[in-house]
Amino acid sequence: MKNNKWLEDMKLAHPLVIAGPCSAETEEQVLEIAHELKNTDATIFRAGVWKPRTRPGNFEGVGALALPWLQRVKKETGLLIAVEVANREHVKLALKHDVDILWIGARTTVNPFAVQEIADALENTEKIVLVKNPINPDLELWLGAIERLQKVNIQNIGAIHRGFSSYQKTKYRNNPNWQIAIDFKNRMPEIPLINDPSHICGERTRIFDVSQTALDLKFDGLMIETHCNPNKAWSDAKQQITPTVLKELTEKLKVRKSSFEKTSSITKLETLRDEIDFIDAKLLRTLAKRMEVSEQIGKEKKKQNVAILQQNRWNDIIEKSIKNGENLDLSNKFINNIYREIHQESIKHQEKIIKK
Ligand code: PEP
Ligand code: MN
Repeated sequence: MKNNKWLEDMKLAHPLVIAGPCSAETEEQVLEIAHELKNTDATIFRAGVWKPRTRPGNFEGVGALALPWLQRVKKETGLLIAVEVANREHVKLALKHDVDILWIGARTTVNPFAVQEIADALENTEKIVLVKNPINPDLELWLGAIERLQKVNIQNIGAIHRGFSSYQKTKYRNNPNWQIAIDFKNRMPEIPLINDPSHICGERTRIFDVSQTALDLKFDGLMIETHCNPNKAWSDAKQQITPTVLKELTEKLKVRKSSFEKTSSITKLETLRDEIDFIDAKLLRTLAKRMEVSEQIGKEKKKQNVAILQQNRWNDIIEKSIKNGENLDLSNKFINNIYREIHQESIKHQEKIIKK
């Protein structure tokens, strides 16, 4: 499957930069942004025309009225144009207006019926279709949506990582959960992966850092919401940046090489990697040894008919480890996570003994 061919064939700058407003608001607004974007690295112009809003009553997009504005953008600036589609009707209208790239939004990817409807409406198309991750952290659902497109012979597919909702408020609007993006790349290495730092951050100050992390993880591009007057935007005002700021931002970003060059640093690197391998092997032996001791404790618990979970003991261990970790420059969160896993594994080993 050659789903990444479109990225090579189009000969667009790599990493790809997609920019434009959250929403198309007026013809003037759209054209003003597009003309300013001509001076940046952006090669694809995005604009939401139908806006999926979490709650009713907010601006829901101007609808198909904006599609001829985007056609003007393409004609006047040479930028390719991209819109979000959420149903068959949107697809029909986007195709009728020569939209180059259609993307499926996070609230649509969660719904296999909607994705199937879009896939069927696009069967055999040569258009580029980008699939945002679903709002919930479910890799299978994201992959499933892409498989639905592949099954109807859509060749030019990409994915957009825009982060995941969480009930707890964090510093992000949508938690990046980078591991899911890394797992995505392992499961579908042929699909170009684009990062959307705007919807991850929810506000503009962290967009650079998130973009740099994405490039360090070898993402193929960025989709960044851009507006000439961000604070006055009709949707997502806090997270949009001006084309000028976008230009500065992409100039500052460092694109790193995929692998090390053959220089003397390679031997240094090999030595350090050998050392890591040695430490990892030792770490595993130590963990295995810890489980053996834990099983012996399990035998004692069985003999004396004592419950596996000893809450006080567990609290002592975690407290002590966090304190020791601090002295070793290991974060509380890391110690907490790692000990929770060790404890779970230990319980499993003891259960095996007790059930024997
Ligand atoms: C958008 O790109 O403007 C949008 C609605 O994004 P998401 O689907 O990621 O929420
Ligand atoms: Mn938006």
